[in-house]
Amino acid sequence: MGKLTTPDWILKGGKKPTKKKEKGTFKIRKCPKCGSDEVQVVLTGEEGKGTGEWECKKCKWVGRNIVMDEVSEEEFMKYLDEKGEEVA
Ligand SMILES: [Zn+2]
Repeated sequence: MGKLTTPDWILKGGKKPTKKKEKGTFKIRKCPKCGSDEVQVVLTGEEGKGTGEWECKKCKWVGRNIVMDEVSEEEFMKYLDEKGEEVA
């Protein structure tokens, strides 16, 4: 392992940069099998007890390894737009 490198903010005057709030990171969940976003958590019927599993309404896939797409706010809005009127 090499030497520790001096962080950039020290070299540039020693002011620690304030952490910018990450704006616009939205998550879109998708089925790993068919790519559909028609996924929902599997409900067990017992209140407050999730199985941690997801199911796809389209292809009936059930599992935990759901695909999470991280998108910007802009992309997310576009996604909602394309999804169209199906906002229940
Ligand atoms: Zn699916």
